[in-house]
Amino acid sequence: MLPIEVQRAPTLKPKPASEGLGFGKYFTDHMFRMDYSPERGWHQARILPHGPLGLDPGAAVLHYAQAVFDGSKVFRGRDGQLRAFRIMDHCKRLYTSAERLAMAPVPPELAREAIEALVKVEADWVPGAPGTALYVRPTVIASEAFLGVRPADKYIFFIILSPVGSYFAGGAEPVRIWVEQQHTRAAKGGLGGAKAAANYAAGLQASMEAKKRGYAQVLWLDAAEHRYIEEVGTMNLFVRIGDEVVTPPLDGTFLPGITRESALTLMRDWGMKVSERKLSVDEMREAHKKGELREVFGTGTAAVISPVGALGFREGQLVIGDGKVGEVSQRLYDTLTGIQYGTHPDRHGWMTII
Ligand code: PMP
Repeated sequence: MLPIEVQRAPTLKPKPASEGLGFGKYFTDHMFRMDYSPERGWHQARILPHGPLGLDPGAAVLHYAQAVFDGSKVFRGRDGQLRAFRIMDHCKRLYTSAERLAMAPVPPELAREAIEALVKVEADWVPGAPGTALYVRPTVIASEAFLGVRPADKYIFFIILSPVGSYFAGGAEPVRIWVEQQHTRAAKGGLGGAKAAANYAAGLQASMEAKKRGYAQVLWLDAAEHRYIEEVGTMNLFVRIGDEVVTPPLDGTFLPGITRESALTLMRDWGMKVSERKLSVDEMREAHKKGELREVFGTGTAAVISPVGALGFREGQLVIGDGKVGEVSQRLYDTLTGIQYGTHPDRHGWMTII
């Protein structure tokens, strides 16, 4: 067990009403922090009031973007019990993301203990209304003040918490997604497979342009040919063509989503035909023309399952389904949220009681 010093905040903030939570707007009273140096390794684990980190302006993260994070959720069950979803998988991904950026990785077991300890201190912040959760954001940054280009030798690992509602303003309404045929996000061999802060900076300009056109997020295509679908801004993508549900295979250019893996597992449990294979925009258009493009949905921690109602292109728009939520999207959403809130059996051992 990690020795964690707890320094309580002298005053606690009022908790926001669950209707107006949105996503990532509010932070809890406390955060976790631990530091790394070559001599001491990870040390001085502590829970302290949520507040500034005290970074030197020369800190490597501010210049060369050595920053990785992860995002998972803790749910308040219908029985009042707190449950974290696939927490070890999230901690393992944080580890591999840090390795990819030549940073000091946090041993997954240590990260898990830290998250659990912090959530226990902030248990009152886990909202209970349907669709709400406590979002957990563990982050590692390079804190060494040094301007030479090489991996830093000092790091900070911190965890902040945010009570959240629905990610998209429209709730469970199908979202409109812009298919980005000009900008790209990550090339083969690049950072796409890591949850690196830099990936999100790379996507902001295109997502801003998509918003102006009335689309909620961007669908990224492969960087080499701009033909094959990869992932959406903060979600992996699934497309149902006839009776086959297709999602692109993991090739290091996009994030190996934990919701993606959960959706694949559930659909295989149900005996559905699911394929991890390359899917081109042309194939989607062709399927749409033949009336076989039955459902498109995104998967991700924030929105869980997000039905896509329209795909926009420079040349026009493909409208998917009849504006209603597709049957596979709905079944996945109901099953996953049922497991998360403890009303559905957790056959794969995904939930950890906190
Ligand atoms: N792709 C990107 C770029 C993301 O930010 C996310 C959200 N973490 C996902 C996919 C979905 O991953 P997960 O299901 O693990 O949340």
